[in-house]
Amino acid sequence: MNDLVLTGDRPTGPLHLGHYFGSLANRVRLQERFPMYVLIADYQVITDRDVPGEIRRHTTELLLDYLAVGIDPAKVTIFQHSAIPELNQLLLPFLSLVSVAELRRNPTVKDEIAHSSQSAVSGLMFTYPVHQAADILFCKGTLVPVGRDQLPHVEVTRLVARRFNERYGEVFPLPEALLGEQPLLRGLDGGKMSKSRGNAIPLSATEDETAALIRRAVTDPDRVITYDEERRPGVAGLLTLAGLCLGRSPGELAEEIGDGGAATLKRVTTEAVNEFLRPIRKRRAELGAGDVRRILAEGNARARERAVRTLEEVRVAMGF
Ligand code: ATP
Ligand code: MG
Repeated sequence: MNDLVLTGDRPTGPLHLGHYFGSLANRVRLQERFPMYVLIADYQVITDRDVPGEIRRHTTELLLDYLAVGIDPAKVTIFQHSAIPELNQLLLPFLSLVSVAELRRNPTVKDEIAHSSQSAVSGLMFTYPVHQAADILFCKGTLVPVGRDQLPHVEVTRLVARRFNERYGEVFPLPEALLGEQPLLRGLDGGKMSKSRGNAIPLSATEDETAALIRRAVTDPDRVITYDEERRPGVAGLLTLAGLCLGRSPGELAEEIGDGGAATLKRVTTEAVNEFLRPIRKRRAELGAGDVRRILAEGNARARERAVRTLEEVRVAMGF
C-alpha cells in the first residue's frame, strides 16, 4: 500500500500526555513504515485566540517536544502552515464544496466554541475544518493519526475529497483517521486534557511541577478507589493515566489502591508519570534550539514543493 501519514498540532502551548497517548506514540511507530508529514498548524491558532500570542516560542517548543518523543526529522517532513500559502489557496475551492449547515453541525466546533475565551466566534471557527482538509489533501495523505475530537474533521476532509473528485475528476484519495491508544485522555479536571484548559500535564514539566499538578487534580470524597468512567471521571482519569504509564489496566490499579483513597491514587499516578516521562524529558534537555531553525526550513521547503504540485493539479482539474 502507498499510504502517506499526515498529522499536526497547534502551537498553542507545550504538548501533553493526551497528545502522547492520543497521537504522538502512533506517529513514532508509523514513521518507520510510511512517509509522513507533521504540520505545525500556526494559522489555526487564531481560530479561537484573538492574537497568535507567543507563536515563535510555542513553535520552537512544539518542535522540541516532537524530537524528544522520538519523531525523526530525517524520516518525517515537519512544516508550518504559514510557510505554505498554497494551503490557503486550496481552501477557497474546498469551501465551495461544503454547505453552511454542514459546517454548523460539527460537534467538535460546537465544543470548542463552548470553551472559547473569545468574545465573538470568528468565521474561521466554522471553516478551519475545511482548512484542515487542505492540510491533509495537499500531500494526498491517506492515514491521519488523531485523537477522537478530530474525527468530525477527518469526515469533512473525506467529504471535500469525494465531492472534488465527483465534480472535477479523480485527484484526491479519501483519508482514514487512525485513533491512538487513548483517543480521549482526561485532564486533571476530568474533562478532555487540553493545552488551553489548564488541565494538562505537559511532557516538558519538571517532576516537581508534575507532582504539584496532580496534587490539585479533581477527585471525589469516596474513600475507596474504583474505576467508573461515568460516575467518577476525575478518579477514572488518574487511573487511566497511571495505567497507560505503567502498562496496566485502570481497573486492576483501582483494586490495588482500594481504600488507600485519593492520596494514594495521586502518589501512584505521580510516580508513574514521572518515571514514564524521564527519558523523554532527558532527551529534550539535551536538544539545542539551533537545530530547530534548520529542521523547519528543510521541512517547509519539502512541503511547499508538494503543495505547489497539488495546487497546479487542482487548477488544471477545475479548468482554470
Ligand atoms: P488546544 O487546547 O489549543 O486546542 P489541544 O490540547 O486540544 O490544544 P491540539 O493541538 O488541538 O491540542 O490537538 C493535537 C492532536 O492531539 C489532535 O490529533 C488531537 O485529537 C490530539 N489530542 C489533543 N488532546 C487530546 C486528548 N486529551 N486525548 C487524546 N488526544 C488528544
Ligand atoms: Mg484542540
